[in-house]
Amino acid sequence: MERPWLIDIDAIGIDGDDTLWHSERHFSVTEERFAELLAPWAPAEDLAARLLHTERSNLAVFGYGVKAFVISMIETAIEVTGGDLPVGAIEEIIGWGKELHTHPTVVLPGVVDALSSAAGRRLILVTKGDLFHQESKVAASGLADRFEAIEIVSEKDPATYAAVLKRHGVAPERFVMIGNSVRSDVLPLVELGGRAVHVPHEVTWGHEMSDAAPDDAAWWRVPSLGAALG
Ligand SMILES: [Mg+2]
Repeated sequence: MERPWLIDIDAIGIDGDDTLWHSERHFSVTEERFAELLAPWAPAEDLAARLLHTERSNLAVFGYGVKAFVISMIETAIEVTGGDLPVGAIEEIIGWGKELHTHPTVVLPGVVDALSSAAGRRLILVTKGDLFHQESKVAASGLADRFEAIEIVSEKDPATYAAVLKRHGVAPERFVMIGNSVRSDVLPLVELGGRAVHVPHEVTWGHEMSDAAPDDAAWWRVPSLGAALG
C-alpha cells in the first residue's frame, strides 16, 4: 500500500545536510575541539550553551553556515576569556572553519538507492545555508542530476517554502518535504497545509532539536530516506 505521504503528491522536497550527506558530525567534532581550546576558561557544558546562545543571536545577522559558526565561536571565545583570547587561538578557530568548508561531501548510506527508487518523480532539493558552501556540496555529492531543481535558501520558514512551491507550480497540499529537522523540514510545511516526513539523523544541532510527536494526518517519522520514498 502506498505511503500516506506519497498519495496525490506532485513533487517531493528533500533536504540536503544530514538527509542526503553528512554535515552535523563535522560541526560536532569542531565543537569538541573548541571545548578543549577553552577548557582553561570554561567547562564544556557552559561553553556549549553559550555558543548556542551566540549562534542563535547571530542567525538574524549572519544566517546559517560555516562562516557564521566561525564568527560565533570567536565571539563566544572572546566573551568566555574576558578578552584574553590569544591570537593563536583565533587562528586555530579560523583554520577549523576552512576545514569545515573543504571537507569531502559524504553521501549517507542508502541515499543513492532511495533516490533511484523515486526516479520519475519530481524531486526538488531544498537546502539552507551558505550559498557557496551548499553549491559545492551539491556538486561534490554527485546527486544534482537526480533533482528537477535545486533550491538553496537562507531560511526554511513557511514564506520561503511558499515561494519555492509557487516557483515550481506546486500546491502545498500536493507537496511533501523530507528532512532531518522537525523545525526546518517539517513544521513549516504543516503550517502551509502540506505534508512532511521526518528522517532523524544521529546528530542534530541544538537549534534544530525538537521533541515534537508526529501527527498522522500531516507528518510522519520514518528511519531512513528509503523508507520515506519507498
Ligand atoms: Mg538537514
